[in-house]
Amino acid sequence: MQEATEVAIIGGGVIGLAIALQLATGGREVMVIEPNEPGSGASYGNAGTIADYAVIPVGTPAVLRNLPSLLFDRDSPLAIRRSALPALMPWLLRFAWQSQPAQAARNAAKLARLLSGASEAWRELAGEAGATDLMRQNGCLYLYASADAFHAAASEIALRKRHGIEQAFLTAAEVAALEPGLPAFEGGGVFFPDALHLSDPGEMMRRLANAAASAGVRFLRTKAEALVRTGAAVHLRIGTGEVWARTVVIAAGAHSKQLAAQAGDRVPLDTERGYHVEFDMEQPPVSRPVCPTARGFYLVPMQHRLRVAGTVELGGLTAPPDPRRIALLERGARELLPSLGSPARTWLGFRPSMPDSVPVIRPSRGGDNVILAFGHGHLGLTLAPATARIVADLVTGRTDPANLVAFSN
Ligand SMILES: Cc1cc2nc3c(=O)[nH]c(=O)nc-3n(C[C@H](O)[C@H](O)[C@H](O)COP(=O)(O)OP(=O)(O)OC[C@H]3O[C@@H](n4cnc5c(N)ncnc54)[C@H](O)[C@@H]3O)c2cc1C
Repeated sequence: MQEATEVAIIGGGVIGLAIALQLATGGREVMVIEPNEPGSGASYGNAGTIADYAVIPVGTPAVLRNLPSLLFDRDSPLAIRRSALPALMPWLLRFAWQSQPAQAARNAAKLARLLSGASEAWRELAGEAGATDLMRQNGCLYLYASADAFHAAASEIALRKRHGIEQAFLTAAEVAALEPGLPAFEGGGVFFPDALHLSDPGEMMRRLANAAASAGVRFLRTKAEALVRTGAAVHLRIGTGEVWARTVVIAAGAHSKQLAAQAGDRVPLDTERGYHVEFDMEQPPVSRPVCPTARGFYLVPMQHRLRVAGTVELGGLTAPPDPRRIALLERGARELLPSLGSPARTWLGFRPSMPDSVPVIRPSRGGDNVILAFGHGHLGLTLAPATARIVADLVTGRTDPANLVAFSN
């Protein structure tokens, strides 16, 4: 099979789908190459938060100080598979470097820049996808088990304040009034009052894919195997044949590294694996995403279920799920909500993660007929519509790539 298109997007996760819809509604001829159900990767199982408040990168001086205990304590929200340690070392060294005070502050500034229009861009995208019914605006809550834990978060709170993030400080009693289903959090909470979340990320992906198809996007159910520039065009070898495109966008999430290398970009992309467990119920016991910060997961009310999603496991793309990580999530949820039954389902997904938490959104260094759009780490859902706008501006030549250094890798 031989196909030709103006723009070929590799990867139909939330990033690829948002880009496809944006370009197609702007009149471009677009094809999405995706071997699986669109939106069934990391974009399906996340915590659903549109976290425009989350300007703090994963790597900070505090995380760096605690890294050894975080990595090797079995019950820590951050774990590493020992067998993966040698392969991960270059990424970990870069991560440690990026966790120093000046680097972390610079990375926060880049994220803040990208996040500033994220919620507004999501409202618009959800409108285009006929999916505003899946958006909730109940805010989001970070919770602290003790006054000491709250004080330990002072530098993060100050950094968010510096970037103009609206945050309210709640006493334990105020937290209890807002979320009466939870046990006491003596250290109180930080409340982001305007934060949005999705009541069903999987359903949102289905609507985005349908809206893209209605706008004329063609979906090829196959894998992009190799990318080669040939004159003014880009040639893709796909499972069942080949595709010629004027522009290719690499949006294959955590799987983007090899394709980027073929385009001429050595990018230190790896994955932070994350898990979820879900408990089916009519009325979830929380009414907004709630993050008990020490545990590294969110409790999120979704349609007819409670999703408990998060934690980080460094361990590459091929190892099977670790039942101990799933048990940790389940145990953590039950310690807060003892009446939870058994989870109805569990899930492992692959965050596409850069050592500095800053995504890669720019033309390839090998030539601007390939555009890179991956590496969104913990914020890919949040940043998809904002990324789509930037990529569309690059494709149409409306933006000067020199501006991208303010928020991209
Ligand atoms: C537990 C967890 C909780 C999270 N919570 C949040 C949250 O609350 N808010 C938030 O903003 N973010 C969150 N995230 C992060 C977010 O889910 C990701 O950053 C985002 O989904 C990445 O989107 P993507 O499109 O880049 O990747 P994906 O959704 O993984 O999509 C990439 C797609 O590319 C396809 N692909 C791979 N290789 C090829 C190839 N060679 N050819 C063609 N296609 C290919 C894959 O099949 C896949 O469908 C969370 C992640 C996890 C794991």
